[in-house]
Amino acid sequence: MKRDTAISASETTYDSIMTGHIGLESEHEEYRERVREFAETEVAPVVDDYEERDEFPLDLVDELGEAGLYGVTIPERYGGEGRDYRSFVLTIEELCRIWKVPAGVVSLSGSLVGHTLQKFGSERQREEWLTDVFTQNQVTAVSLTEPQAGSDANALETTAERDGDEFVIDGHKVWTSHGEVADLIFVVARTDDTGSHDDVSIIGVPNPGERDGVEFVRDIPCMEGGAVVENEVKYENLRVPVENLVGEEGRGFRYIMEALDIGRLGVAAQSTGILQGCLDESARFADEREQFGEPIRNNQGVSFKLADMKMDLEAARLLTYSAAAKLDAGERVTQDAAIAKTFASDAAMEGAVEAVQVLGSRGYSKDYPVERFMREAKGTQIYEGTNEINRSVVARHLYD
Ligand SMILES: Cc1cc2nc3c(=O)[nH]c(=O)nc-3n(C[C@H](O)[C@H](O)[C@H](O)COP(=O)(O)OP(=O)(O)OC[C@H]3O[C@@H](n4cnc5c(N)ncnc54)[C@H](O)[C@@H]3O)c2cc1C
Repeated sequence: MKRDTAISASETTYDSIMTGHIGLESEHEEYRERVREFAETEVAPVVDDYEERDEFPLDLVDELGEAGLYGVTIPERYGGEGRDYRSFVLTIEELCRIWKVPAGVVSLSGSLVGHTLQKFGSERQREEWLTDVFTQNQVTAVSLTEPQAGSDANALETTAERDGDEFVIDGHKVWTSHGEVADLIFVVARTDDTGSHDDVSIIGVPNPGERDGVEFVRDIPCMEGGAVVENEVKYENLRVPVENLVGEEGRGFRYIMEALDIGRLGVAAQSTGILQGCLDESARFADEREQFGEPIRNNQGVSFKLADMKMDLEAARLLTYSAAAKLDAGERVTQDAAIAKTFASDAAMEGAVEAVQVLGSRGYSKDYPVERFMREAKGTQIYEGTNEINRSVVARHLYD
């Protein structure tokens, strides 16, 4: 039996997050309530089952779409909800308070794929791909990282050569999240060979699982667990029509960098939600667990851990909301998003380690979610630019 003394996720949070935040309107707080209810009633009861079965939650993606929580910022005419970026981060935060995997789908589809298609895609791509993703609740993926091209993304060697009215794609990618369950993959490839950023283009590959030339070599076993899908992929003589080029040839690197601002805000929101989950679980446990005849929260050594989590949580939340509000005001948020992502993910990792400590042996078991929060938090320090790379972004923009 799980959670012998813990309270289920649906019970009251110990944190006073509903008191309003700078940058949020009352409609955002109402929207947050909607997402929270979905997360507690639809996600919380099934997360352990999916995790135990190592199964990607395709049904949950469908339910998110049905509940109007998937294409949050995508215009309604393309099947989305037409909301702002503050709603986007709230959706991800509230889902991550319970489970990161479905939030990761909302984050990736809304940022790297959704934003890029909406802003740079052709009208045909918007009407077909974008609309299909958000009306049919499809999963998307981005194939950028390669074995030799991680932080240095421009070291990518995948090529897309023109052959008549087709591109022929050849290359080896790693860490393509959602790859084999995706209905649409953005493959990032060189369409020229000068070695500069201006060689790089994005090519859309719909229905990748049904194509000759796409081999999902393996699902990389990773710390987060088996429910998330992280593929190593080989593209060999993959032929797609030239009209699958997204935007202009040679502009792909710039498109990815712009969309990463939004992606990093999504990761900041993931981290904030994970940290909230850690605080909820550990504050509740510290209130109920008695040792030496009293609740363990009466010990300063325990209560200071909770206080540190609360302080970091408030700071992470404000950085995330403030960057989202700037984005809603039409500003470029490269530095703000890097700050929010780095601060929030470091805080989530630290908070998760302490949450495990507050729960003692129970925190180390899979009977409680904090060990999973710790595994989820670690990823947020690495993907969408490691925190070292994000610190470099912050430093570079000091001189703008
Ligand atoms: C869970 C997960 C999901 C992912 N999803 C995707 C995805 O969907 N699509 C995709 O294309 N990729 C994805 N990635 C890949 C991710 O973007 C890369 O892992 C990341 O960019 C870092 O590259 P790397 O792992 O090769 O590390 P490396 O670049 O090899 O870096 C190794 C270490 O060196 C440090 N380092 C490197 N260069 C510098 C520098 N200049 N200054 C300071 N420190 C430096 C790094 O910070 C890191 O600590 C995912 C990764 C993970 C873990």
